[in-house]
Amino acid sequence: MSQWITVLGATGSIGSSTLDVIRRHPARYRVYALTGFSRIAELVAAAIEFSSRYIVVPSVEAKQKAELLLAQDAQGCIVLVGEKGLAEVASAPEVDMVMASIVGAAGLVPTLAAAEAGKRVLLANKEALVMAGPLFMQAIRDNNAQLLPIDSEHNAIFQSLPADYSGDFSQHGIEKILLTASGGPFRNKTKTELADVTPAQAVAHPNWSMGAKISVDSATLMNKGLELIEACFLFNCRADQIQVVVHPQSVIHSMVQYSDGSVIAELGQPDMRTPIAYGMAWPERIDAGVKSLDLFEIARLDFTQPDHQTFPCLNLAKDAFERGGIFPAVLNAANEIAVAAFLAEQISFLAIPELIAQVVQVCPEQNITCLQDVLEADDWARTQANALLTNYRLDA
Ligand code: NDP
Ligand code: MG
Repeated sequence: MSQWITVLGATGSIGSSTLDVIRRHPARYRVYALTGFSRIAELVAAAIEFSSRYIVVPSVEAKQKAELLLAQDAQGCIVLVGEKGLAEVASAPEVDMVMASIVGAAGLVPTLAAAEAGKRVLLANKEALVMAGPLFMQAIRDNNAQLLPIDSEHNAIFQSLPADYSGDFSQHGIEKILLTASGGPFRNKTKTELADVTPAQAVAHPNWSMGAKISVDSATLMNKGLELIEACFLFNCRADQIQVVVHPQSVIHSMVQYSDGSVIAELGQPDMRTPIAYGMAWPERIDAGVKSLDLFEIARLDFTQPDHQTFPCLNLAKDAFERGGIFPAVLNAANEIAVAAFLAEQISFLAIPELIAQVVQVCPEQNITCLQDVLEADDWARTQANALLTNYRLDA
């Protein structure tokens, strides 16, 4: 029997890779809903191709545009609007699994709705987990939802942990997680060399093809910081149980080190269709359209320490996780504002960590007890970051 899937963020990089995997298995998966934000024509084209029952768009204007485009192809697809529409298609009773691949904080509410509805949650949207880790993990447990990490590192760790992993390192003789990082496009660059790098240079990742925001995060190493927090919540460990290893070839996607000296790793092409197909079919394996690894072609694998002086974002994230409460949500929101400003050429690359550090510095201690606390912290941090942004504006 086929399974129904909702793809949140279907027009993005992860979304289109997910659609590619679905396309290869038409008998196995059926599309319940696809969501988009600015790329409405692409969204409608995908809805027509996959006979999606619903699509979700951000506004009434976008709905009108989508309905006009749909009418031309006489589709019975229903168009929903906004956050309510997103939560609806993430939690509908017919849906078996939800690909959470909206970028940033906007993905939190629908991803949480999927967890609360007890779905298989395919988690690409790491920002949702960073912001609301304890709440999100509790929602997964309380509702017997399944959480399959799609982020390639976390997917590799998931594959390298014991199948019956209990959430307790000592019970399984686990010493640490080795979280690999490519180092991004600016690996080995000095601070002076980074002073005037452009958005185009920052988004040109050497190994992975991804959306603009995560590409900048990879260049600042904030992506690795967010992933460190993501791993702590997913695998219930401390930040000091995770070692970041710069591995420029991106062949090993992460590792788990055990007390008997074994290190278990997952290797593969830098192609997100592998973790996506793994999450969709788990515990089975299906064709993902990815070519096999040729070890002779790769020939060598290198490993180095991260450069914390040049790339302070990794430690900013680690500190935010260790301080707990609203700090990870505040860090994430400040980062989203800083990255958007850098992409809009309003601030320099080096201003990104400075702005985030300033926002975190003025953040008061506060625990998270409910979703409202997270949303308020996110809002507070955005206001602070926008106010502080003027100090860094290139045109000031
Ligand atoms: P993209 O920018 O390529 O896609 C983002 C998706 O989210 C698009 O469908 C976009 O719609 C939609 N979107 C953007 N803003 C909003 C909003 N405010 N409300 C609703 N939908 C919105 O990003 P990626 O696919 O690269 O990344 C998606 C997530 O997956 C991120 O959290 C990222 O960290 C994570 N991830 C990505 C990896 C990758 O290889 N790309 C690897 C590991 C994790 P539209 O395009 O129509 O505007
Ligand atoms: Mg990753």
